[in-house]
Amino acid sequence: MGDGVAVASDIVPFSRPYRSEDELANVARVLASDHSHGDGPFTRRASEKIVTLTTAGHVLLTPSGTHSLEMASSLLGIGRGDEVILPSFTFPSAADAVARTGATCVFVDIDPSTGNIDANQASEAVGPRTRAISVMHYGGVPVDIESMLSIAREHGLPIIEDNAHGLGVRAGAHTLGSVGVLAAQSFHDTKNVHCGEGGALLINDPALVERAEIMREKGTNRSQYLRGQVDKYRWVDWGSSYLMSEISAAVLDAQLSEIGEIQHQRVSVWDRYALELDEWADALGARLMSPPLGIHAAHLFYLVMPTWASQTDLIASLRLAGVIASFHYVPLDSSPAGLRYGRTLGSLDVSEDFSRRIVRLPLWPGMSEDQVSRVIDAVRAFQLL
Ligand SMILES: *Cc1c(COP(=O)(O)O)cnc(C)c1O
Repeated sequence: MGDGVAVASDIVPFSRPYRSEDELANVARVLASDHSHGDGPFTRRASEKIVTLTTAGHVLLTPSGTHSLEMASSLLGIGRGDEVILPSFTFPSAADAVARTGATCVFVDIDPSTGNIDANQASEAVGPRTRAISVMHYGGVPVDIESMLSIAREHGLPIIEDNAHGLGVRAGAHTLGSVGVLAAQSFHDTKNVHCGEGGALLINDPALVERAEIMREKGTNRSQYLRGQVDKYRWVDWGSSYLMSEISAAVLDAQLSEIGEIQHQRVSVWDRYALELDEWADALGARLMSPPLGIHAAHLFYLVMPTWASQTDLIASLRLAGVIASFHYVPLDSSPAGLRYGRTLGSLDVSEDFSRRIVRLPLWPGMSEDQVSRVIDAVRAFQLL
């Protein structure tokens, strides 16, 4: 290709989905059985593994993390005239789940040391219409759990946890996914554990389980019928179809069995970046992702560049070296839908600045030592213009 542009086979991709050893055999078993719709044996096994990993009270597999967040809003009865507090720097799904009910998103800023919701701003944003606080553990780095729980307790508000990045992360006495009244996992193929597209709703208030089961089964009490608790199933409330296919659950169950290996491989890449880019970052005035107490999910690794311009410059310079790096979320509060469905207490400067300065490096299980070295070398070769 000339011009020093790396050929395709040389490219270090940004992310590659994990492939587990048993997933094909599991899928074959489902296809050979007469049960490929939801709630079969792989769904049961995968759900039990997620309960063990998160200590959540109850787990329901769903078609996606987004559907899980939708269910959370509906279960809490959030609707028109209500407000939900959430960080501006997050994936749009958390805001979709609020906007679709007719409620208003109240966007608050983030803590620049983690990218997570700023607890002080969340507290200030609570008003008479607030119905819930939605938090996201960026990169599996826990939010300030004690502060968020104390705000929630003080105002009697439920916390909704978007734990798409933090499956299996422990933080002191807590496990991510069991902090909020409801939590969402995503098993999209960019996540640490995946089944292509998929999700789970984690229910930590037993009073919500029955309604959640009905909502997930088209508004019927079919789950009770299948357990022999009622002799016919009927339409008992409104609902939708929020089940994961057993074919996807077969892949998910295989991946969950290997989460130890997945995390081991991801952490070894993460640790090399942290160790080998430290001096470079100091010299350049950049900052490396550095989770308080070292707690994270090795879901992503980011640098905070010294200026907005150097974000695009670094991404372009890495691309020339055949390394695919990426920025991340564009703040929701100033995005077209954010302006329509949300409001803020003021300008969210930290979200804007963080969004314009972070660069995420390639990170996936199975990255070779050589590929990690190529990324490190390409970053170290970067100088400010
Ligand atoms: C991936 C992701 C989602 C959405 O999950 P899907 O399964 O793709 O619907 C929501 N929130 C965060 C933080 C995510 O990373």
